[in-house]
Amino acid sequence: MNDKPTTAIGCSDDDPEREQHVLTRKKRDELSPRDMIRLLQEGNRRFVDGKPIDWDYRHEQADTSGGQYPGAIVLGCIDSRAPAEIVFNLRIGDVFNARVAGNVVDEDIVGSMEYACKAAGAKIILVMGHTNCGAVKGAIDRVELGNLTQLLAKIKPAIDAVRDVEGEQTTKNSAFVSAAAKMNVMLTMANIRKTSPVLKEMEERGEIGIAGALYDIESGKVEFFDSKS
Ligand SMILES: [Zn+2]
Repeated sequence: MNDKPTTAIGCSDDDPEREQHVLTRKKRDELSPRDMIRLLQEGNRRFVDGKPIDWDYRHEQADTSGGQYPGAIVLGCIDSRAPAEIVFNLRIGDVFNARVAGNVVDEDIVGSMEYACKAAGAKIILVMGHTNCGAVKGAIDRVELGNLTQLLAKIKPAIDAVRDVEGEQTTKNSAFVSAAAKMNVMLTMANIRKTSPVLKEMEERGEIGIAGALYDIESGKVEFFDSKS
């Protein structure tokens, strides 16, 4: 256990001892959206390097019991290999975490994001897809199965929008699958702005950032990108 992590979210040497272990309102409110992205990037770097901070979950659980001040909401896939808290080396209370196959949005997910940002003060909405995503592959293969059919239909526009990838447009082509996963993240970000005037306005005012990322399940690295890249 590193008692005084200097690169972790909101930690600094001059904090009262108890407060050092979790994200407080003051620490969270001092972070800009860009700061929050940087802290997620640093956490992923520790994870990739095999040098994660060995957090004290029981201490964090006690220290967050009276309130939470998360810095971000992450929308990820349900894939068991892409757990946000672990790949960003985060503590209890650091982020809200929404997960649904293919990291797509519906009104309930967008409502959760509005709660996270407008009511609870999170600074970043991070939509995180991942490589080798079964939901993206299912959409490419036009899988039909119960309620999954309509979920995969939400990914279909991303498949159709992929351009400039060499090789066949099938699930055998991992470059195509990754490009579709990235496009799906970008279209999801656009969907959030389109369906939530609340979040769009917060982003335009610089109160929050809406960011995209792709988690590489082979390397463990998270690639961040904005909606224009
Ligand atoms: Zn997935």
